[in-house]
Amino acid sequence: MGFAGFVMHEMSIVSSLVEQIRAHVPPGSVVERVLLEVGALEHLVDEMLQAAWVGCTLETELADAELVVERVAMWVRCGNCETEFEPVALACLYCPECGLASPIILRGKGVVLKSIEVQAGERVKG
Ligand SMILES: [Zn+2]
Repeated sequence: MGFAGFVMHEMSIVSSLVEQIRAHVPPGSVVERVLLEVGALEHLVDEMLQAAWVGCTLETELADAELVVERVAMWVRCGNCETEFEPVALACLYCPECGLASPIILRGKGVVLKSIEVQAGERVKG
């Protein structure tokens, strides 16, 4: 996957994010800040998300809204002994207790729209 592929990926995430925001925000509200949680396992680049955000909101009611991207660290549970741990690297999923690699991913996957702040500090979601 080249550079363009990454841009396409971020664009599709951001455009569905914009749809979600529009579905949650009452008409006439001014969105100030959008908090997005991005799992460590997602192959998303913050700069590209920001660029996609600017591209998707340009000349819309969301043009002045700030996109805040929060990274969620990966957290797994060993499928063998149930120890929970944060892998030191994505490619290193061996359990520190029993040494087996059968992790159940608890956190660090997916992209979640965490909250939308509209003017006057009111929170619509999250
Ligand atoms: Zn284990």
